[in-house]
Amino acid sequence: MIKSPTNLLYANTATTQSTTSSQARTRRVRSRVPDSTRKIGVFDISARAGFLFDVLELVSRSQSRFTFYPVEASLPMGLGVIGDVFEAKLKAVREKLSRGDKAELRQNIAVQDYFPFLKQTREQIHVDVIAGLFSPMLAWTESDDAKTVDYGWNFFSLGEGPDVAISVYGLRDYAKEAGRPFEAAVALLTLAQVWASLYGTRFHQQSRGCPFDFCENRDDLVGAISKMEICSESLEEIPADERESVTKCLNVIRTYARG
Ligand SMILES: [Zn+2]
Repeated sequence: MIKSPTNLLYANTATTQSTTSSQARTRRVRSRVPDSTRKIGVFDISARAGFLFDVLELVSRSQSRFTFYPVEASLPMGLGVIGDVFEAKLKAVREKLSRGDKAELRQNIAVQDYFPFLKQTREQIHVDVIAGLFSPMLAWTESDDAKTVDYGWNFFSLGEGPDVAISVYGLRDYAKEAGRPFEAAVALLTLAQVWASLYGTRFHQQSRGCPFDFCENRDDLVGAISKMEICSESLEEIPADERESVTKCLNVIRTYARG
C-alpha cells in the first residue's frame, strides 16, 4: 500500500510572467534520489486518473533512472476548450471532412495550444520532462504562412521535445477489455511517450503488444495494454545502459494490481 505520493511539485502558472517568477511555488525533490535520475513531472489536467500515482510511485522505486512527481498548477484562462478550436484551425479542409470526421474532431483538443503552458510549468518546477494528461483525444496542425499544411487527430499521445501530452479518451474501456486497471494503462501511455521524448524511440505501424505500437486502429491499444512487452526493434532504439530500467518499469506496470 502506498502511503503518500512522492513530493508534490507546485507551479503557479496562472500568470504569464517569466519562469523565474516568485509566483512559482516549488518544493525541492527528495534528496535521496540519485543524480542520474530523470525527473518526470506528471500533471493530470483532465484525465482524472485517481490511482495513477500509486503505480508511478512503484515505478519510481523499481529502478533509478526515472522518478515521477505529481504536479499541480492552475490552467491559464482560455485553455480547456475542446473540438471547436481545432475545427476552426482546419477551415481550409473542413468541406472535405465527413460528418463522422467532424463528430470525432469535437472529441479532440488542439494540443499545440497546451505545449507552451506545459513548457512554462516544466521550467518552473525544474523537471526534465513534463507529461500533461487529458480527457479528450489529441489533435495537431502544422501551418506554413498561416495556411494549414498538415494535420492529424485522434492521437493517444504526442510530444514536443520534453513536453508531452497523453489522452485517456476511451482508455477505461480498453483497460477493461484487457483486464487491467485503468491507471496501469495510463502509466503505459505516459511512459512510452516519455521514452520517445528522452530517447527518440519511434512508434511503429505494426501492432505487436508493444508500448510503441502506433495504434492507427485505436482498438489495437487493447493488445498493448494486455501484453505490455517491448519488442526487440523498439528495445534496440533505447540506449543499452537504459534498457534494464525500461524493462523494470514495464514489469511493474504489467504486474500492478490496485491495492
Ligand atoms: Zn515495439
